[in-house]
Amino acid sequence: MSMQNPVFIPGPTNIPESVRKACDMPTLDHRSSAFARMFKPAVDGVRRVLKMDQGEVIVIPSTGTGGWEAAVTNTLSPGDTVLAARFGMFSHRWIDLCQRHGLNVQIIETPWGHGAPLAQIEAALRADRAGKIKAVLATHNETATGVKSDIGGIRAAMDAAGHGAMLFVDGVSSIASMPFDFAGWGVDIAVAGSQKGFMLPAGLAILGVSPKAIAAMETARLPRSFFDFKDMLVSYARGGYPYTPAVGPIAGLAHSIDLLETEGLENVYARHHRLAEGVRRAVFAWGMSPYAASADLYSDTVTAVKVPAGCDGTALVQLAATKYGMAFGVGLGEVAGKVFRIGHLGMLTEAMVLSGLCVAEMCMADLGWPVKLGSGVSAAQEYYRGTVPALAMAAE
Ligand SMILES: *Cc1c(COP(=O)(O)O)cnc(C)c1O
Repeated sequence: MSMQNPVFIPGPTNIPESVRKACDMPTLDHRSSAFARMFKPAVDGVRRVLKMDQGEVIVIPSTGTGGWEAAVTNTLSPGDTVLAARFGMFSHRWIDLCQRHGLNVQIIETPWGHGAPLAQIEAALRADRAGKIKAVLATHNETATGVKSDIGGIRAAMDAAGHGAMLFVDGVSSIASMPFDFAGWGVDIAVAGSQKGFMLPAGLAILGVSPKAIAAMETARLPRSFFDFKDMLVSYARGGYPYTPAVGPIAGLAHSIDLLETEGLENVYARHHRLAEGVRRAVFAWGMSPYAASADLYSDTVTAVKVPAGCDGTALVQLAATKYGMAFGVGLGEVAGKVFRIGHLGMLTEAMVLSGLCVAEMCMADLGWPVKLGSGVSAAQEYYRGTVPALAMAAE
């Protein structure tokens, strides 16, 4: 039989059967009108998910990391200054990518477990009278620590400082799972990947790009070729692509957005919040806590669980994989061993989440952690019993 369990890593996420089928298709000539007919609904759908009122959607055969690279190389020049807070592995890696491209990154070191520091961002922008900072980089959901940042708050800080920098947002582990407001937050580039909230295999970098960021391409001198937005936009206008598109995943993207919109984006966000809240109830019932420093920072797509002193989060992840065939996320970087991560985004139901909590508990008992079997599961059960809406997953 198949020993397949749902995965509880924060991406790649579980793939709905119908999305797998939508990706699995015979070869199609990408220069034919059939491709254009398939591509348009995917692009239009992304526009709605991001809540864009203007600008362009770009879909590149790549991953989220390629999306970061595309964002900076299309809009910036060597030596340009960007402002970024570092508070986890993913914000760190974006900063590292910028540095490798010869950008000057003004870094606001922020303790892991915290989010983007709005007051410090505003102060840095106010201090930049010469307007050297060309872009503010923000990791909407820091997947390493399970922390969400207030992107609307960053926009307000930028406006309060009267600064004209662009706002680039890494939404790889938030978009399509947590509310995102490209237009309302004045985002200039949003980066997503196919394998998280969109419930697809890895393989697409998905970007929303504002008219301001498009205009920045005219003077941006960082080298780019594969990721060049201009080549993309010229080809899109003709219903084509500058090279061979990832046709299967693009077909899947249109279908996954259809699933999300059939459920209703607001319901998708509410489901993620509910699933996350059940996980958090379980974590507290275990006598542990999320790594995020305060409740307003709790991510609805991933929880980094702080493990008790003397316990090793990585050991739990290994045991879950080898004994029970279930995948959780290890702690990365500074929090290696100190946390294990439960991803709760994409195609998940209450019943699936309960199975993950149940296996995590068995591992804790196996490892001799001071946790009572059933304590976390029952806390989540009580919460879900009282909150699950009728026919929550009728769409699928
Ligand atoms: C997963 C992730 C990335 C990296 O995306 P890849 O698709 O692995 O390249 C970037 N940022 C965040 C916040 C992520 O969760």
